[in-house]
Amino acid sequence: MVEKLKEAIMATDAEVILLDIDGTIKDLVKEHQTALRITVNGFNRGKNLRRKLVFFLDKVAMGFVKSGILSTNRDRQEFLLGLYAIILGKSVSEFRNLYDTFYNDKVIVFRGIRELFEEVASKKKLCFVTVNAQNLNIEKLGIKREDIYCVQSKKKIYAYKTALMMNDLDPEDVLVVGDNIFDDIKPAKKLHCRCLLIDNYKSKFKRFLAKLFKVGIV
Ligand SMILES: [Mg+2]
Repeated sequence: MVEKLKEAIMATDAEVILLDIDGTIKDLVKEHQTALRITVNGFNRGKNLRRKLVFFLDKVAMGFVKSGILSTNRDRQEFLLGLYAIILGKSVSEFRNLYDTFYNDKVIVFRGIRELFEEVASKKKLCFVTVNAQNLNIEKLGIKREDIYCVQSKKKIYAYKTALMMNDLDPEDVLVVGDNIFDDIKPAKKLHCRCLLIDNYKSKFKRFLAKLFKVGIV
């Protein structure tokens, strides 16, 4: 995927690339599943049935995330973590605090992403948008702080708008790259930016969505 993304970035005549972070450059599913596994195992030694139920439900939920139906935002995480804590019969806040400790410690970017930044940085300006600022470990991501635009809002369109405004950009000179058709692509279209959908998890359903919404996908 990263190779194809690089080709697409180099081929476009857009001057600025606005990249979503979670699920686009950062493997949020892997990060989440690692933190969840450590938390559940630490909390629930021996209670296999409940543990299996948590992992089964998580697999289903992550299937939705990978296919781009659900977004990987903090609200979804909050809901799922609460549900898992209840299944395990644990305090929701205690469970979430432990999960957060492990989660914040992990930064897993997709393979080849850091090299991509280095290779395209001299040709295009790369900016990054997110609504999940509290989880962001910028140093580990290899991104400059001034290139990140965060908003404390459920709607990412405000983050894209902020990035456009702060850089005084004409939307037609901007390519928005994101992994979620509803969070990234629809707002990008609304703002009249060009857009590209990322399919890091090779989802047939996401390919179908890309066709339906007439958007390029790599
Ligand atoms: Mg995303």
